[in-house]
Amino acid sequence: MNKIESNSILRYWRESLNGTLGFVPTMGALHEGHISLIEYAKQECDEVLVSIFINPMQFDQIEDFEKYPQTLEQDLDLLRKHGVDAVWIPKVHDLYPNGMKMKITESDLSQRLCGSSRPGHFDGVLTVVMKLFQLTKPQKAFFGEKDFQQLQLIQKMANEFFLDIKIVPVPTLRENSGLALSSRNLRLSLKEKEKASFFYKTLQESSTAEEARKKLSDLDFKVDYVEDVEKRRFGAVWLGSVRLIDNVQI
Ligand code: AMP
Repeated sequence: MNKIESNSILRYWRESLNGTLGFVPTMGALHEGHISLIEYAKQECDEVLVSIFINPMQFDQIEDFEKYPQTLEQDLDLLRKHGVDAVWIPKVHDLYPNGMKMKITESDLSQRLCGSSRPGHFDGVLTVVMKLFQLTKPQKAFFGEKDFQQLQLIQKMANEFFLDIKIVPVPTLRENSGLALSSRNLRLSLKEKEKASFFYKTLQESSTAEEARKKLSDLDFKVDYVEDVEKRRFGAVWLGSVRLIDNVQI
């Protein structure tokens, strides 16, 4: 596996490829959910590139950024084991050489759901994904349905800016308990993890968003939002200092 740590090596590696490139952007602390994106990419593309970058621009709270789990050596082992062709680990100055003065803003969907409680979050996501796309020039990029709003916004950005990249959605991978795999689960205690599984169950089993909100509050989750949009129920809750998001089809 190639381990790429500079933009110039990335360009050099990119230019050496002949077949189709599948790209899987991540923030590291990799788990089986990320691996399922990689497996989709391996099936659909000749080469698979994974990036690991904790993007400061998308964090609205400094403690969340600082406490974001980092498990680089374990991540590299996992990527090697799953036959990834290259991993790219940019530094902040590689992606923001002139600071964070320019950004991509969407003014509709990005303001709702997670966007209303995390102002500027999706500007950060769209900006970094555009930068990652410009440098990696993939034919296909793989994103998880776990972050459904993010997936929709990236799809809209790709359409809006005529990017020649196919955005491929990948279903959410869950633990047996129903809890969606997430890097942030590493910050949950064993007891909190048990409780976290009720988040998914409640989203799925309640007949209305209001009922789900009430049940989750009764279970002592601090509910950020539960909303039904078209045929999907979206939710975000706090469990101690960890914010969990999920969505289910209704
Ligand atoms: P992250 O490292 O959390 O930024 O996630 C990187 C990518 O993995 C995003 O496209 C996520 O939607 C996706 N992802 C994270 N968790 C899961 C999961 N449990 N199932 C499927 N995809 C996931």
